[in-house]
Amino acid sequence: MSKITSQSQDFSQWYLDIVKVAELADYSKVKGCMVIKPYGYAIWENIQRELDSRIKAADVKNVYFPLLIPESFLQREKEHVEGFMPECAVVTHGGGKKLTENLVIRPTSETIMYDTFSDWIKSYRDLPLKINQWANIVRWEMRTRPFLRTTEFLWQEGHTAHKDKAGADEEAHRALKMYEDFDRDFLALPVLTGRKSDKEKFAGALYTLSTEALAKDGKAIQAGTSHNLGMTFAESFNINYQDENGALQKVWQTSWGVSTRLIGTLIVVHGDEKGLRLPPKVAPTQVVIVPIYKTDGEERETVLKAARQIASDLKRFRVLIDERDTYTPGFKFTEWEVKGVPLRIEIGPRDLAKNSCILARRDTSEKTSLEISELFTAVPKLLDQIQENMYEQALKFREEMTSEIGTYEDFKKILEEKGGFLVTGWCGKETCEQKIQEETKATIRVIKEENTKCKCVYCGEKSSHKVYFARAY
Ligand SMILES: [Zn+2]
Repeated sequence: MSKITSQSQDFSQWYLDIVKVAELADYSKVKGCMVIKPYGYAIWENIQRELDSRIKAADVKNVYFPLLIPESFLQREKEHVEGFMPECAVVTHGGGKKLTENLVIRPTSETIMYDTFSDWIKSYRDLPLKINQWANIVRWEMRTRPFLRTTEFLWQEGHTAHKDKAGADEEAHRALKMYEDFDRDFLALPVLTGRKSDKEKFAGALYTLSTEALAKDGKAIQAGTSHNLGMTFAESFNINYQDENGALQKVWQTSWGVSTRLIGTLIVVHGDEKGLRLPPKVAPTQVVIVPIYKTDGEERETVLKAARQIASDLKRFRVLIDERDTYTPGFKFTEWEVKGVPLRIEIGPRDLAKNSCILARRDTSEKTSLEISELFTAVPKLLDQIQENMYEQALKFREEMTSEIGTYEDFKKILEEKGGFLVTGWCGKETCEQKIQEETKATIRVIKEENTKCKCVYCGEKSSHKVYFARAY
């Protein structure tokens, strides 16, 4: 097995090593695109399954829209086209002929969906309209990294239309809360939530809400976003409805999404020197059984029989028996540690003679000996504990890495020496935000409080915004 670079030595290289050695993804021949391998895709499928059921529980229906969008659709919304056109891939030819109108490969689906919304929505009875799409997206990125930033990625995008601002506000916040809960309960990720500054918001949105995780190298990572789009797109795409009194009104809209970036987030938040660590709920394999035996003779059959019985007793979990004779137990231990399997059961002839086995936790590296008959009750308890412990560890790390900052000198010093989230005052002016970014590479991740008394860390003016700054992925 290839060696993994130490996190403390070179975090970026450590990350790339994990993606490769844990067999999550490969580079493709197309720059910036990745091949998601079976183990990586199984993580995505678990994310998809759980999140899809939460989306449906909110009465949102799944749909599918075309990959190709007429270029003129993007042109209809000024801010949107300015934000997205520079990173669009454009199809100019089809069937060997130059097209009469260029087609853009979707960088996001607002424009193509909302052109259809204007047909679907006629009356207040058609509202709210709430749909979601699981799809691939292309954004021409200059600097890419598997899962964290790729030219093509997979995501879900929710799109809704409402009668009024209150409806859109409520939906934008509902989606944010759904992501926050999902991140905490399923991925063991503590995330900050809040509004983005205008500079950082989605192109064309009234406001953007975001979930932000903290990577082990002290950088923030935007894990999901939810936008109140106001009436911007309704105006460009003529999405009107007749209200209860017969008057023509424009709809209010939202869109919200998370992507395969969540897999990158899992790696940078939970990974350690030994490799990936996966929270049990999202892990493709929750329990791996490594049988230990001499490959010649009866021992093999006896041990395997016991291992298969254990797997059968635990069949309500995702259990795998590593029966490969071509690798040593030691090699297998390392491999499953790199892949982040939460729980490992080791069983050999000596354990079997005592009706016991060894249980090894990936999150704490603890090993305990246990009667085989106890596994049935011990495994579910342990998986719950691991899930919870991983969340607590990540939360503790974030708390230790969050600093209250008074002066700009301290801001620069803490950012350089420690990183993490810097909580400080901001006057609300884009010029200060811009200067800070140019001088330190830190950006406002989310606004913490909007009505509080403090001073802008840059210009010193009285301000009402407390914000979280960080360098980010
Ligand atoms: Zn200022």
